[in-house]
Amino acid sequence: MRAAVLTESHTFDVVDVPDPTPGDGELLLRVRACGICGTDLKSYTRFGAGSILGHEFCGEITAIGPHVDGRWHEGQLVAAMPLSSCGLCRWCLGGEPSHCERVDMFGLGGTPGAFAEYIRVSAVTSVPLEPSIGDLGALIEPLAVGLHTVMEGELRPGDRVLVIGGGNVGAAVTTWARRLGSAEVVVSDPSVSRRDGAGRFGATDVHDPADGPPPSGFDVVFECVGAPGMVQAAIDAVSARGRVVIAGVCVEPDRIIPITAVMKEVQLRFAVCYRPEEFRAAAVLVGSGEIDARAFVTRAVGLNGVNEAFERLLSSTVDRKIFVTPRA
Ligand SMILES: [Zn+2]
Ligand SMILES: [Zn+2]
Repeated sequence: MRAAVLTESHTFDVVDVPDPTPGDGELLLRVRACGICGTDLKSYTRFGAGSILGHEFCGEITAIGPHVDGRWHEGQLVAAMPLSSCGLCRWCLGGEPSHCERVDMFGLGGTPGAFAEYIRVSAVTSVPLEPSIGDLGALIEPLAVGLHTVMEGELRPGDRVLVIGGGNVGAAVTTWARRLGSAEVVVSDPSVSRRDGAGRFGATDVHDPADGPPPSGFDVVFECVGAPGMVQAAIDAVSARGRVVIAGVCVEPDRIIPITAVMKEVQLRFAVCYRPEEFRAAAVLVGSGEIDARAFVTRAVGLNGVNEAFERLLSSTVDRKIFVTPRA
């Protein structure tokens, strides 16, 4: 099969690699679409040559491995969690396979991801989709991230919410926060295009950091940027006893002034991935047609377009999600 494979010089070459075959309990998917994630952009230079990225995908089943239950059939469109885990430990049994000590994440430098024509997935983490969802099935993974982040905020109906960062994570968080009863969701982002687009995801107001810090007193603040200084900005904006949830992937040291959080008794939490039921809920949401899922996606490229797509996303905030469609 063809895949966009990372080179020594941190570019992607489209090359032929051996076709994967589904193992025990696995499905083989012909990748329909795979989103480029902010995590890919922040981490791809750290992955080894030969890596195949891509963890936000959907595809049609083309082969079924041994010991897979009978509800799957060839041609079925599915989204799958981009991981496999032991299935036996307290994390797996407790519905948090991303914390399994033996978790294997796909598309993050180890097991191949979905910037490729085919990918092997676990049947137990797969969710069947209506064929009409099409490429938008690749949004289920980032929407599951958004739902998990919001769940960690223990949102209550009527809560006032600030979302720092109006990129894809911020848009997913905004979508769920409104659906789960927030009265007010303010999105703070320096990018004009992101502020202009925030209303499509349910934002009730926007804030430009160039105008000074956002207003304070929010019940919950979601940090969806992942850059130094953002955690402090979140602490400053939250109310006494408020919750700050950090979903931003910051790979640099950061500093906070703890007294500012102590005096308000701020609850500081971190969020990563999702639980299987959150992944399934995201699939229901995308399938329901109740959100403007197209608003998350600004373009699609073939495997040959991965380099250019990375350049676009790294150099500007005009694009939202770019889909890699390997058969295009
Ligand atoms: Zn991601
Ligand atoms: Zn486990």
